[in-house]
Amino acid sequence: MSKYQREERSVVVLGAGVTGLTTALAIQEKGGYEVSVIAETLPSDPKRPEYTSPWAGAHQALHTGQDERDRRLEQDTFSIMWELAGQGSPAEHCLRRITEREYFRDELDFQTHWMPDFRQIPSDSLVSNAQRGYAYSTYTVDPPLYLNYLLSRFLARGGTVVRGKVQHVSQVLEGGIDVFNRGRASTTPVDALIVCAGLGARTLGGVEDEAVYPNRGQVILLKAPWITEACRISDSTGGDQTYVIPRQNGVVSMGSTKSPNDWFPIARPETTDDILQRCLALCPELVPLQIRAERSGTIEDLRPLIVEAGCGFRPARQGGIRLKSEWVQSRGTDDKKLVVYNYGHAGKGYVTSWACAAAVIDMLEAALMKD
Ligand SMILES: Cc1cc2nc3c(=O)[nH]c(=O)nc-3n(C[C@H](O)[C@H](O)[C@H](O)COP(=O)(O)OP(=O)(O)OC[C@H]3O[C@@H](n4cnc5c(N)ncnc54)[C@H](O)[C@@H]3O)c2cc1C
Repeated sequence: MSKYQREERSVVVLGAGVTGLTTALAIQEKGGYEVSVIAETLPSDPKRPEYTSPWAGAHQALHTGQDERDRRLEQDTFSIMWELAGQGSPAEHCLRRITEREYFRDELDFQTHWMPDFRQIPSDSLVSNAQRGYAYSTYTVDPPLYLNYLLSRFLARGGTVVRGKVQHVSQVLEGGIDVFNRGRASTTPVDALIVCAGLGARTLGGVEDEAVYPNRGQVILLKAPWITEACRISDSTGGDQTYVIPRQNGVVSMGSTKSPNDWFPIARPETTDDILQRCLALCPELVPLQIRAERSGTIEDLRPLIVEAGCGFRPARQGGIRLKSEWVQSRGTDDKKLVVYNYGHAGKGYVTSWACAAAVIDMLEAALMKD
């Protein structure tokens, strides 16, 4: 059957992190596409640093960059995530609306904001070392739960998910996903492949993007259900940031570090201590009230509350997120196949997820319409 006789176009999404799952779901819900996901790692797998999505904070802080495209991606995604975090939303169990207090150690050229309830914190209420501070409403995400929410929404609408390590994009372009789970080529030809491989884009054959590198971030999860507001301090250099982000399940995510090209795959104890120290200075309320009633808290008071300490490799890319499409010659056919790239989100995979997926759909529609 030729592709012109088929009702739906066949699209394969490579990657099951927040980027791949959001993209797969958005394409599926657009209609007119039969969508499959192929990935080496899936949401309920044990955590691995190179599968970044489960490690994220994850929240939307103020957008302080100067790149107009990135601002749009964050602002457009915010409206969708804000609705998903609302009461009565089918995703309310994995997101949470909260107040965030965000501090900056230096002055910055800060022009745009779209956060609800945005206000400047008076200078006599700033934490020590802060030059400026703002409070606003935002959302936080419980990443493992949210990834499973995306996956189950995709599956419930008839999506297919296959586990497999792709060595070269040509494997999917020529044989589809059946190559990975049935040992034969798919009978339906693939019309488009969407590459959402995160850090994997560095080594995936046919992509091998040398601009992609890991930016290691270490985090701690702490059981502290009494923390109901997020706080964060950073500066305009883009270096380490200190944050305390409460999730809807009573756990707070505490971080972090930014360590480019650092491949060490487990938590370093001295870094864990440093994060505890920084977070305690920013948010002394982390220490249980009964201890604080008697004396000042120390990081030793926090240790028994630690649920997990670990790290993820943010999939950073020189030049920023790659959102691009191209036609690639495929073996076994005279046709060229459409490949769309959506990777390199560094520390912004959640906060740009829905807008990046929309950009992929635009490229898909524009290219396949002309085809
Ligand atoms: C400490 C920390 C805090 C963070 N905080 C935030 C935050 O507050 N807000 C925010 O927006 N972001 C945050 N991030 C960043 C965010 O986690 C990433 O941007 C996001 O997870 C990237 O998602 P992804 O889907 O592109 O990649 P990944 O989650 O890494 O997924 C990649 C997928 O591709 C698959 N894959 C790769 N190569 C192949 C191959 N050859 N064959 C088959 N499958 C392959 C993998 O198996 C996986 O399924 C944070 C990250 C860290 C580490």
